[in-house]
Amino acid sequence: VETALTLDGRPLPLVGPARIYVCGITPYDVTHLGHAATFVWTDTLSRVLRYAGAETRTCRNVTDVDRVLTEAARRADAEVERFAAVQQFRFDQDMTALGVRRPEHEPRARQYVAHVVRLAAALLDGGAAYQRGGGIYLRDDGAAARAGRTLEESRRLQAEFGDDPDDPAKDDPRDATVWAPATGTEPAWDAPWGRGRPGWHAECAAMVLAIFGSSVDVHAGGTDLAYPHHTYEAAMAEAVTGVRPFSRAWFRVGQVRVAGQKMAKSTGNLVLLEDLLEQQSAAVIRLLILDRRWDEPWDFTGDAVAVAGARLDRLYAAGGRGGGESAVDAVAAALFDNLDVPRALAMAEDAGGAAARVLTGVLGLT
Ligand SMILES: [Zn+2]
Repeated sequence: VETALTLDGRPLPLVGPARIYVCGITPYDVTHLGHAATFVWTDTLSRVLRYAGAETRTCRNVTDVDRVLTEAARRADAEVERFAAVQQFRFDQDMTALGVRRPEHEPRARQYVAHVVRLAAALLDGGAAYQRGGGIYLRDDGAAARAGRTLEESRRLQAEFGDDPDDPAKDDPRDATVWAPATGTEPAWDAPWGRGRPGWHAECAAMVLAIFGSSVDVHAGGTDLAYPHHTYEAAMAEAVTGVRPFSRAWFRVGQVRVAGQKMAKSTGNLVLLEDLLEQQSAAVIRLLILDRRWDEPWDFTGDAVAVAGARLDRLYAAGGRGGGESAVDAVAAALFDNLDVPRALAMAEDAGGAAARVLTGVLGLT
């Protein structure tokens, strides 16, 4: 059995348990196929590592301090915490139905506000952040440029993800909010520099550092989280710990699109997981997600679902045959090579028997 998984051409040898952090949901709405893709892939990464004999520790946070959540709860005329708990429960049910293993750690941002305060204080002490009024801001200090973003892109993406590039408190539009002053309409906590709430990137940085220490082996999330979220989360963590890289590997899962468009509530093209699960088995949905490169965007279509269903039938049929023992290692090697599921599937179908049954198990298609 191979011992080192290779991600994006880089081997990721492990001696101790793999620390996997995946940016979780903001519990304000039902789960769609785009969310499911990120969590099924992360689950599969962990299953492949376990198959190779490694231990894994997965942390998937819950972003329950967020403006969209506050607004959704208000629209539903519900108290934020209760509203979030109900959404969280439905999300957990969807993940269970999909066979996504429960992570060892599921921190909720609300419970880590004190850690964000500590993070902000450390960033201030080290000069990586500054205080303006009741807010604390991380200096971009070239991070956006290193992430390959022009000033214009940075401004657009910051605005898209809820951090105001035109905030007059910022020295540079790219600077990231570590602590936002209270607005009066959102949940707020006391801090040495005034009442307010954590910035989103600071929440993840604080939760990772609190749970895993100074760094992680794999940091996962959707492709669209690369900038600004992962960029500034990593910048905050590295600034306080001095440990670089904060994450040995990034596992950013390709976007699920509908007719070439990002799946989003605003475009009304959400494919909801609960609807899909009414029509398809969890195994078909998993294979629909997994039978492709993990980092590439793809289009959801009825045809793609049919292809996944047919492929699953062939895999099951192949697993019913005898033999296939000699191909087991080659199938595993394909998975360790950047999680090449399409190649592993082709080999397992060909060899049949044990090779097909092992792959069915590792991918959680039973
Ligand atoms: Zn995150």
